[in-house]
Amino acid sequence: MQSALPSTLPSLAGLTKQELAEKLVAIGVDAGKARMRAEQLWRWIYHYGVTEFSQMTNVAKELRATLAEHYTLARPEIVTQQTSQDGTRKWLIRFGTGVEAECVFIPDVGRSGALCVSSQVGCTLNCTFCHTGTQKLVRNLSAAEIVQQVMIARDALGEWPTSNEDRALTNIVFMGMGEPLYNLDNVASAIDIISDGDGISISRRRITVSTAGVAPKIAELGERTGAMLAISLHATNDELRNQLVPLNKKYNLEELFAAIRAYPSLGNAKRVTFEYVMLKGVNDSLPEAKALVKLLAGIPAKINLIPFNPWPGAPYECSDWETIEKFAEVLNRAGYSSPIRTPRGRDILAACGQLRSESVKQRASERLKTGAQ
Ligand code: SAH
Repeated sequence: MQSALPSTLPSLAGLTKQELAEKLVAIGVDAGKARMRAEQLWRWIYHYGVTEFSQMTNVAKELRATLAEHYTLARPEIVTQQTSQDGTRKWLIRFGTGVEAECVFIPDVGRSGALCVSSQVGCTLNCTFCHTGTQKLVRNLSAAEIVQQVMIARDALGEWPTSNEDRALTNIVFMGMGEPLYNLDNVASAIDIISDGDGISISRRRITVSTAGVAPKIAELGERTGAMLAISLHATNDELRNQLVPLNKKYNLEELFAAIRAYPSLGNAKRVTFEYVMLKGVNDSLPEAKALVKLLAGIPAKINLIPFNPWPGAPYECSDWETIEKFAEVLNRAGYSSPIRTPRGRDILAACGQLRSESVKQRASERLKTGAQ
């Protein structure tokens, strides 16, 4: 009967080199050789994307068999996958009982496609225009679980082994569920794995981490990851931003902008992206566009105007197209490239701020009952 059940062995997919070495030592590989063997596994897992140990042809047969007795290379379960009319793809992934998060592939942005990954299940921030904000935080995702989202997308896109040309998935954006700077250790470790040239090999310059404004963690993000920084701004004064992004009450615009200005190695090649969601009659007036220009003075910046994406019960409407264009014109005249982000994947609720899963925090007693971690 047992063979009909999914394997309960732990998966090595998503682990760091150090963790792989430890897993090898745990099954009897000599500690002195574990590092070298881990390098071999690394290439099979992250360059070739294999899902069976038997495919690792330069690993001794005996070791392959021992590995298969104790571990798998399985990805987490895909609960649903949907494809939008515009080609956007969304996966709902189950990391454990009641622990589900979404990730979204958006083809043809910039030179090619971006994968929007989640860093937490749920969120603590309660931004009033964001669907994910209506869901409580369940837990942080581990580094492995963040990397597994990239692996699942690559599986579906047929992008193993890693190639240097004609990739569909070229960029990663931490703009899915959660606040990445509240899970910085795991986000940094995931970026180390994803950017490694012997594996998935997506350069740090093509990885963008978006924050609602956790000011004291911004410098650390830059130092530890070298990633591109994006700020979910949405308002140009504290009064309005306190309402839209309640985190602003903790770290106001002055404190946030001091941290942004200090982000390591900013320049023309490394600009900060400012996201500004267009809410009808709330933050979309011309004086606000001018205030935005003033606020960004001296910062190498790009501005993404995001038409508000509606979700069931949302208390806002999207600004009229004409209003958005006039707002953009003020920014353009001031010398900012300010593309209006065409909503992608709205029909499958995959657009910015529409992600949400049914996961709820389980009480400890319930976790015990279901045997979940
Ligand atoms: N917590 C981080 C990462 C999430 S990014 C952050 O806030 O930056 C998700 C992006 O989508 C943010 O810029 C967010 O402000 C934006 N967003 C949220 N809800 C939206 C909606 N309904 N329509 C358009 N954009 C939205």
